[in-house]
Amino acid sequence: MATTVDSKLLFGKVALLGIGLIGSSMGHAMRRAGLAAHIAGYSRRPETLEKANAVGFADTLHDSPLAAVRDADFVVLATPVGAFGGLAREIAPMLRPGAILSDVGSVKMAVIRDVGPHVPQGVHLVPAHPIAGTEEAGPEAGFAELFDGRWCVLTPSPETDPQAVETVKTFWRRCGSEVEVMDARHHDLVLAITSHVPHLIAYNIVGTAAALETGGQREGIKHSAGEFRDFTRIAASDPTMWRDVFLNNREAVLEMLGRFKEALSALQRAIRWGDGDALLSLFTRTRAIRRSVVEAGQDTPAPNFGRSRTRKT
Ligand code: NAP
Repeated sequence: MATTVDSKLLFGKVALLGIGLIGSSMGHAMRRAGLAAHIAGYSRRPETLEKANAVGFADTLHDSPLAAVRDADFVVLATPVGAFGGLAREIAPMLRPGAILSDVGSVKMAVIRDVGPHVPQGVHLVPAHPIAGTEEAGPEAGFAELFDGRWCVLTPSPETDPQAVETVKTFWRRCGSEVEVMDARHHDLVLAITSHVPHLIAYNIVGTAAALETGGQREGIKHSAGEFRDFTRIAASDPTMWRDVFLNNREAVLEMLGRFKEALSALQRAIRWGDGDALLSLFTRTRAIRRSVVEAGQDTPAPNFGRSRTRKT
């Protein structure tokens, strides 16, 4: 079980396997809250380790995951999801009994499938997904406030030691998050429609506009409207991370894409037949949803989504 070194420390040693946006932000948030006596970071590439060293959110940095997890009581997988299984297999012999193994992956059924079989007896697997991020990547992109006021969803199996789940809840709360426990399959369905399909739409719209450009219509992107620019922001998200999200949440994304396509066909029909009532009804409902998102504190009510009005448009 987790080491309580003193009243403020939650863990003796935390190992972050992956120190990009999310891993480095966890390092900053842990330091802000005084959560760990020792933070160890692992990354593959020397340039990433050098950048992390320059930023300074970890006590030790390693190019070997085994060295990073030695004696750790909390180990977090924070690489793209496709690398979780291999990493879990590699570190398994080094995990100490009572340690908690977690992750930050954007999909959760795949974690149970790929990581679950490698978890040694006596080690507690508590998968987690902090629903917080930016379009930036790498250790320089992280900051302590990333998780403040954002949800972190935990998807432990019903058999998981309740004390380990409580410890991970405490960890994320002290990193600034609100915590919810959810079934992994439900998480993947919800995130498919609220995050994964929106990303796919953004990638597709920007890709379609770019294809028009090569067709000689350069004005499209040059004079892009604010709406298109919002899509380009989402479509600038890390390619490797998002490839892995789609490959590892295939079923839920395909299910939600099916529903999305049906709803899109209904809208297409409404436009074709001049059914203004149908359009008005949907647009009124979605406007109310926007208000409830703002009221829930998940976005700013400022005009233009809080962007500076003085910035070049
Ligand atoms: P990131 O900034 O690109 O950092 C990725 C880290 O993983 C780096 O340390 C990188 O090391 C390492 N890595 C990449 N490929 C690897 C591989 N095949 N094997 C071992 N290590 C590898 O990524 P991130 O945004 O922090 O995302 C990390 C995780 O958080 C993902 O699972 C993602 O689903 C989840 N997540 C992301 C967001 C978001 O908005 N970005 C939000 C919530 C959850 P090198 O640089 O040394 O290669």
